[in-house]
Amino acid sequence: GDFPIETDTIVIGSGPGGYVAAIRAAQLGQKVTIVEKGEVGGVCLNVGCIPSKALISAGHRYETATESDAMGIKAENVTVDFSKVQDFKAGVVKKLVGGVQGLLKGNKIETVKGEAYFVDSNTLRVMDDNSAQTYTFKNAIIATGSRPIELPTFKYSKRVLNSTGALALEEIPEKIAVIGGGVIGIELGGAYASFGSKLTILEGADDILLGFEKQMTTLVKKNLKKKGAEIITKAQAKGVEETENGVKVTYEAKGKEETLEADYLFVMVGRRPNTDEIGLEQVGIKMSDKGVIEIDKQCRTSVSNIYAIGDVVSGPQLAHKASYEGKIAAEAIAGKPSEIDYLGIPAVVFANPELATVGYNEAQAKEEGIEYTAAKFPFAANGRALALDSTDGYVKLITRKEDGLVIGAQIAGANASDMIAELGLAIEAGMTAEDLAMTIHAHPTLGEITMEAAEVALGTPIHIV
Ligand code: FAD
Repeated sequence: GDFPIETDTIVIGSGPGGYVAAIRAAQLGQKVTIVEKGEVGGVCLNVGCIPSKALISAGHRYETATESDAMGIKAENVTVDFSKVQDFKAGVVKKLVGGVQGLLKGNKIETVKGEAYFVDSNTLRVMDDNSAQTYTFKNAIIATGSRPIELPTFKYSKRVLNSTGALALEEIPEKIAVIGGGVIGIELGGAYASFGSKLTILEGADDILLGFEKQMTTLVKKNLKKKGAEIITKAQAKGVEETENGVKVTYEAKGKEETLEADYLFVMVGRRPNTDEIGLEQVGIKMSDKGVIEIDKQCRTSVSNIYAIGDVVSGPQLAHKASYEGKIAAEAIAGKPSEIDYLGIPAVVFANPELATVGYNEAQAKEEGIEYTAAKFPFAANGRALALDSTDGYVKLITRKEDGLVIGAQIAGANASDMIAELGLAIEAGMTAEDLAMTIHAHPTLGEITMEAAEVALGTPIHIV
C-alpha cells in the first residue's frame, strides 16, 4: 500500500546545500525528510571538492618531495603508488560521508534513498528501483545540484572523461588533454601535472580562470608551465577520435587546424543544474532557459512553499554558497527574516599558487562606479613566506575611498584558501582598512601580509617603501 507519509520539510538532494538545510530545519523544530538518489554528501563530498583536494594535496606532497633543492633537500627515487593515493582519497570521502550520515541521524532527520519527483506543490513521489513512496509536505527545498555538461562532439567514454572520471583514474597518465581552463580543469589537470603527467589545456577564451584577475592567472600559468604544461588559449576544440590506447583531439588555434594526442581527454566545460527530471513543470516553478531556478532573497521559488538552493540557482557553483543558502532557506521556512547577501562569499582555486577572492575585485568595483583604493602587499616581503620558500603571490585589498571600508580582497599565494577567511569576516563585519591594520597579527605568519596590505591602503606600510 502507498499511504502518503506526512512531513513538515522535505529536502531533495543531500549535497552541501541539502544536508545543511535539513540540519538547520531540524534545529528549528521541524520534522525533516531528506531524499537522496545517490550518495549522501552529494557531488562535493563524493566526486567534487573533497576528493579533488585529496588528490591535489597528494600531488603537492610528491612535487615538494622532489623539488626542495633550495632547502638543500635532495630526495631521490621518490615514487608514487597511485592506487594508494586513490585509497587515501576514498578513505577521506568515506569518513566524511559517514560523518554526514551521523549528523542527519543525530538530528532525527529521516533519510530516504530514491529519486524524487514533484506531483504537485505539496506532494513528492520517491522512486527506488521497484518501490515507490508518496510524501506530502508543507515546505520543500530543492537541492538537486548539477552535473557536467556533455558536448555532442565529446561524448564521455573510457578515454573522454568528465570530472568524476578524471578523479577515478587508476594510474597516472603520461599525457592528458583538457578542454576548458576553468576552475575544475585547472585543479584536476594541475593535480595530474604535479604527479608528472604532461598536460595540455585548450581554452576558448584568451585566458584561463575567467573572472580571476590577470595578475593571479599569470602566476598559475607560470607554475603550470614550470611543470611542463602547455596552455593554448583561443583554441576551439573540434572533435575527438579514440585510438587504441588514447585519444586524438583536433582543435583550431590561430586559424589553423591542429591535432593533439593524449592518453585521456578531460572535458571540463561547465555544469548544468539538475532541474530537468524532477517534475518542476508539474508545479510551475519559474526557471531560466538554461534550467536555473529563480529565487527571491530568501531562496523562495515562484511557488511560495518551495525553496531552491545551491547549484540549481544562479550564482557561483560553490559548496559553501550552497550551504549558506541552505541555512537561509531553512530559517525562512521557520519564519525568520534571514536573507541572502552574496558579497561575502569567497571563491578559491586550489591551483599552485592558491587563488582566493572575496567581495569586489578592481574590475567589478570599476564597473559599479565605486571609488576604491587597491592596496597590495607581496608574499616576497614577508618573513614566513620566505621561510616557507613560497614567495609567489600577494594580498590585494579593495577599500572604499571615502571611508576605507573593506569591500573586497584578492589573495594569490600559499594558504590563500585559509587566509581569505579573515577578509570575508572583515566584509561581513563592516571593517575598515584601519581595523585590519590595528589587529595584531602573530609574527612571523602569512596573516601579516594582510595587515601590511591594510597599512598600504592607509599609506603607512612598515615593511615596504
Ligand atoms: P550537489 O552537491 O550536486 O548535490 C545534489 C544531490 O542531489 C546529489 O547527491 C544528487 O544525487 C541528488 N539528487 C539530484 N536529483 C535528485 C532527485 N531527483 N532525487 C533525489 N536526489 C537527487 N566547490 C567548492 O566550494 N569548493 C571546491 O573546492 C569545489 N571543488 C569541486 C571540484 C569538482 C571536481 C567539482 C565537480 C565541483 C567542485 N565544487 C567545489 C563545486 C561543488 O561540488 C558544488 O557547488 C556543490 O556540490 C553544490 O552543492 P549542492 O548541494 O547544490 O548539490
